[in-house]
Amino acid sequence: MRKIRIAIDGFAGTGKSSTARAVAKALGYTYIDTGAMYRAVTLYLLDKQIPVDRETPALMEALGNIRLDFRPGKGASLEVYLNDEPAEPAIRHPRVSEAVSPVATLPAVRHALVAQQRRIGEQGGVVMDGRDIGTYVFPDAELKVFMTASLPVRAQRRQYEMADAGLEQSIEDIQSNLSARDQIDANREMAPLRQAPDAVVMDTSDMDFEDQVAEILRLVAKHYDAAHSR
Ligand code: C5P
Repeated sequence: MRKIRIAIDGFAGTGKSSTARAVAKALGYTYIDTGAMYRAVTLYLLDKQIPVDRETPALMEALGNIRLDFRPGKGASLEVYLNDEPAEPAIRHPRVSEAVSPVATLPAVRHALVAQQRRIGEQGGVVMDGRDIGTYVFPDAELKVFMTASLPVRAQRRQYEMADAGLEQSIEDIQSNLSARDQIDANREMAPLRQAPDAVVMDTSDMDFEDQVAEILRLVAKHYDAAHSR
């Protein structure tokens, strides 16, 4: 049976990445963290001290010098590499979290990353998480999930994730970064964060991780059942 494309979109810190990674592992699919791609571009621009508020000639030139690829990382998952160097954990640093949403509004950045995401996913067998996967990157994805959760729950989860990566930030600062990013992501001109009309909404505020993964695997099984009986 044809391997499908699973799009998982939603606000920052809703548990998309960890859930998507586990779903991909269970299905033997490739997991692609598209947020990590936007973060890697941001890290490069910050390191080169290139202002990220506009598409200046310096920024356009820098984009031409960025090469992203995915290589085997921890466990069975793939991790993003920036010009042959692992981008983790530097891309999780608060300075990157602060600058990434403005960078992600720039059409030149989005065009380049979306083209790469489409190439990776065109054959199917991918779980891709982000903001615009079900609406823009793969509007014809076979399964779309839109994840939400309350802001305090999201901030708490993000703090645990950061601690795992050896990074520390107060709950208040994390919370204000998450809501600032949601604001920019939902209001940008190109491919804003939106729930696709055909996405299944999952509010994960009161769900534990295993239930989130099981729920998506149940939706995958339902998709195959429906495809089978057509
Ligand atoms: O997923 P994560 O929170 O790491 O994403 C970081 C940022 O990258 C988001 O806040 C958003 O600005 C941008 N992003 C995006 N489109 C995607 C994935 C991420 O604009 N598909």
